[in-house]
Amino acid sequence: MNSEKALVLFSGGQDSTTCLFWAKKYFGKVFTVGFDYGQRHCSEIQAARNIAEKANVPFQILKIDLLSQITVNALTSNRIEMENEKPDKRPPNTLVEGRNMLFLTYAAIIAKTQGIRNLVTGVGQADYSGYPDCRNDFILSLNKTLNLSMDFDYTIHTPLMWKNKAEIWQIAAELGIFDLVSNETVTCYNGIKGTGCGNCPACYLRNRGLEQFLENKLNLKK
Ligand code: ZN
Repeated sequence: MNSEKALVLFSGGQDSTTCLFWAKKYFGKVFTVGFDYGQRHCSEIQAARNIAEKANVPFQILKIDLLSQITVNALTSNRIEMENEKPDKRPPNTLVEGRNMLFLTYAAIIAKTQGIRNLVTGVGQADYSGYPDCRNDFILSLNKTLNLSMDFDYTIHTPLMWKNKAEIWQIAAELGIFDLVSNETVTCYNGIKGTGCGNCPACYLRNRGLEQFLENKLNLKK
């Protein structure tokens, strides 16, 4: 562990919770920031608050509801039916355009004011969701842009970039937070804590990953 500080972009979901505890293992002092961008369900933010408290880290929430005014998507609008199947030729309608770029940019501004060079985010492209701003190329590019724009030497850490959901469950188990992730996080697009609604694309990925992880564990024991 080094003595440096890190700021984790934290939503209270499986991935960012795993990142939070990963950061606690590798950094001296960890901070979290969450975003209220008019998502349909406030259970996410409530979950984030609870988990941050359990992890004993400061949690700050930024309201950026402008995002839901200028984009049309199924995560912030009740009028749009969520697509359960991933479309072939375009990202799913749960994509919030520009979301990760904005989140990381705001997080970077906060981080600099507190002398924090390390940003941690749970984005990844292994179980590629069709969201362009989860890809490694984008993160590398934004890292460079943030360094130039604020004349500061940021490092964006993406410990889950190449991990599929089964491997992310494995990391949670190794960090000793399997139960916490199972019971306290909200990944579900319908805002249901823990195992979720079981029907939305986020639940599908999470639960399929969990089955694979449990299967791998069984096979190891044999
Ligand atoms: Zn769900």
